[in-house]
Amino acid sequence: MNQLLILNGTIVTSESTSEADIAVKDGIIEAIGSFSLSDFPGSFVIDAKDKYIFPAGIDPHVHLQLPTPAGPSSDDFLSGSMAAIAGGTTFLIDFVTPAKGQPLQEALDQRQKEAAECLTGYTFHMGITWYDSSIPGQMAWCVNEAGIRTFKAYLAYKGSIGIEYHELEQVMKTAALLQACVLVHCEEGDAIIRNQQEFIRNGQTGPMYHSLSRQAETEAESVRKVIDLCRSTGCRTYIVHTSAALSIKYIRAAKKEGLPVFCETCPQYLLLDESVYSKPLPDSLKYIISPPIRSKKDQEALWLGMADHTVDVISTDHCPFNLKGQKDTGINDFTKIPNGAGGIESRLALLYTFGVLNNKISFHQFVELTSARAAKIFGLYPQKGAIAVGSDADLLIWNPETKSVISPANLRQHCDSSIYEGFETTGCAETVIRNGSILFHKNRFV
Ligand SMILES: [Zn+2]
Repeated sequence: MNQLLILNGTIVTSESTSEADIAVKDGIIEAIGSFSLSDFPGSFVIDAKDKYIFPAGIDPHVHLQLPTPAGPSSDDFLSGSMAAIAGGTTFLIDFVTPAKGQPLQEALDQRQKEAAECLTGYTFHMGITWYDSSIPGQMAWCVNEAGIRTFKAYLAYKGSIGIEYHELEQVMKTAALLQACVLVHCEEGDAIIRNQQEFIRNGQTGPMYHSLSRQAETEAESVRKVIDLCRSTGCRTYIVHTSAALSIKYIRAAKKEGLPVFCETCPQYLLLDESVYSKPLPDSLKYIISPPIRSKKDQEALWLGMADHTVDVISTDHCPFNLKGQKDTGINDFTKIPNGAGGIESRLALLYTFGVLNNKISFHQFVELTSARAAKIFGLYPQKGAIAVGSDADLLIWNPETKSVISPANLRQHCDSSIYEGFETTGCAETVIRNGSILFHKNRFV
């Protein structure tokens, strides 16, 4: 018997708040109500007085152990999942990134082996990183045989994993037939390469030129074209790491039109602004991510997009690289800096502190953005993203009082730096439960 009783907490879901106790049996929420130990004798009891109980976090956009020319992203599935758990997240969606011409099934097998040590629940989005006439059949295999119903396409990174718009159109047509969803990295890949080459030719090699080579318009224009493809194909379309005000404007209009478009952004676009690229080297290298950190005006538009539900999900795009030995390989050429930064562990504390406590989003929106909406979009609801009888007991007991300051030394992620270093947060994941088992309690793994 595996029974757990959580007493005296305040349950917060995307829809409601209630003072109630939760009984868990064999990994599933068995009952919600007013209980005492005599109702469920033998249970392990957690007192959640003065604490909130949220559905545990779901981060649908992470890159653990992502291969790059500068070596793999610095978190593997073990360290990355430990960091996720310490931050209150128990379910991750990572990516399969097939090499050019590699069969999707083979790439999936390989990725599953790499993920064997993952301590959270997880699944994958299948990357469509190359295209020929075999891809529609292979996509059908993913949906029908492997249970993968989401695909990811990149319009940036031309020459490596990026594909062309006319290929994306075929992918979206196929996905629509399969009732699958396509995630798109929207940036104008060809324009970015032209800009990069011009800067490098002129000796403009510093991190600032990363940002200048891919300005807000290169994202928004791509978002606009992808929305057109969404309209013509009817494909469920999820725009990842949206960073620009103009993109939000287009997505808001597309939603109003009734198109099946979803939008995600990440804490780095909400909390940092482009001044980070003016920091001295090597510190400025850690902010090299794509799309780049934008202006304060873009930031404000993203917060407004969250408030009016244009933004569906806050993910992290977690993809850390060490400053020393990875990021600094591009110190003399910004195009060689591996793109990405870590955030898996800080996502909930940052959103709670700067969103909920600053009255920019409600408690219910906090749950919606960190778990419920992703669960609904990616077919996990109501097993996950909910606190209801019959749901998985993936629960987060949140201490709203704890204060901390983010530093690389106190993060579990394997990385020598953090883009959130010095950020002061309020609230922390005190107890993290997955499938009814306590994984993390009061700052240590159980
Ligand atoms: Zn990503």
